Amino acid sequence: MSEMFRALVLDTAQDGKTVVPQFKDLSLDDLPEGDVLVRVAHSTLNYKDGMILNGLGRLVRKYPHVPGVDFAGEVVESADVRYKPGDRVILTGWRVGENHWGGYAQMARVQADWLVPLPDGLDTAQAMAIGTAGFTAMLAVMALEEQGVLPDQDGEVLVSGAAGGVGSVAISILAHLGYRVVASTGRPENADYLKHLGASDIIDRATLAEAPNRPLLSERWLGAVDSVGSTTLAHMLAEMKYHGVVAACGLAGGADLPATVIPFLLRGVKLIGIDSVLCPYEKRVCAWQRLVTDLPAERLDEAMQTVKLSDIVPYGEKILKGAVRGRLVVDVA
Ligand code: NDP
Repeated sequence: MSEMFRALVLDTAQDGKTVVPQFKDLSLDDLPEGDVLVRVAHSTLNYKDGMILNGLGRLVRKYPHVPGVDFAGEVVESADVRYKPGDRVILTGWRVGENHWGGYAQMARVQADWLVPLPDGLDTAQAMAIGTAGFTAMLAVMALEEQGVLPDQDGEVLVSGAAGGVGSVAISILAHLGYRVVASTGRPENADYLKHLGASDIIDRATLAEAPNRPLLSERWLGAVDSVGSTTLAHMLAEMKYHGVVAACGLAGGADLPATVIPFLLRGVKLIGIDSVLCPYEKRVCAWQRLVTDLPAERLDEAMQTVKLSDIVPYGEKILKGAVRGRLVVDVA
């Protein structure tokens, strides 16, 4: 008989719209196709998981569905030469947990191409404390470096959405690397937390939220990691120093960009897009290695809170209300 395992399964109610979560015992035959079977140890809770748990955003098109955008665990079976039983692996992105069943189950079957080996120096809980948010932050820092923004230069790097997942990991990494970091937040009660992560200054996000009243404002930032988009991104573009670089990661404030091209033309400002979902394998492996060396483990441990899979559902609403700080790790085993 096929091995049974516990999973959180979302299905639609009789109205065909409301999404209902239920814990079920599934068999391996229930899992979708894939070439690697993984025993999931830990997953995490991203904003996107909150949306999926609440049936929002039309992210999931087919029910029943097992959510969980990220997971880390151990290979049980593999039809791909790159992985063998016992290997520890991480999965983030590739629309797993949306188009494909995800990590809120003790077993997952996925494509080998979607996995990366768990790097030495991280356990599965720490990998999920990083998760998609931390991985995205690392990609953003790498983008700044690639474009020539380096710690020994004279100037500051701005991080918006600072108390969020991407923002707080970006601050920790940048500060560890020796950059001078300014954190923009709408939650001043988190100022001590942000300074502890390494921010040297805190600014109120309201100061950036207004669209710039001129195409160019006084030059302030060497680089920026932006999770907010919209007028905030437009404002920071107008405040970049000559040849400054912005890594655009998110849209917490809106998907529009009410900006002019003047900062690009007169200051050679660069706007670099960050995509974690379809990021190529070599870059993924490099980013995970960098997370081992450049994200201090104690910062990660401090930011991490663990909940059992059986308790995850109410946190889906909490993260949508902005009531989760730091990183929530889901103990799936
Ligand atoms: P979080 O919800 O953890 O953090 C977002 C932060 O943005 C909040 O903590 C808050 O920070 C700030 N914020 C929230 N609402 C607003 C608003 N209306 N105006 C201005 N600031 C706001 O999300 P993540 O850090 O996980 O993700 C950040 C963004 O990045 C999201 O848009 C997400 O979709 C995107 N993302 C993109 C990825 C990619 O591959 N490009 C991968 C992962 C995430 P504070 O309270 O400090 O002001």
